[in-house]
Amino acid sequence: MKGYAPGWQVRCTKCQRTRSASGVGIVRVGAWTWKNFTPGWCSSCQWLRFLAVERKPVPAQSASA
Ligand SMILES: [Zn+2]
Repeated sequence: MKGYAPGWQVRCTKCQRTRSASGVGIVRVGAWTWKNFTPGWCSSCQWLRFLAVERKPVPAQSASA
């Protein structure tokens, strides 16, 4: 799927919770970002927060999903 970015995560700017970008419904890069921030729902805050979009850290072990 073009534009899908599996190597990205979003981090809540309030509580620092991170989750996969695909897990929050973000599947397109370019349309939704504002300086690498995007509004989104934080399941930890239970509120809309600005989420920092950033590269996932490379895992030490390659786990095949
Ligand atoms: Zn949060």
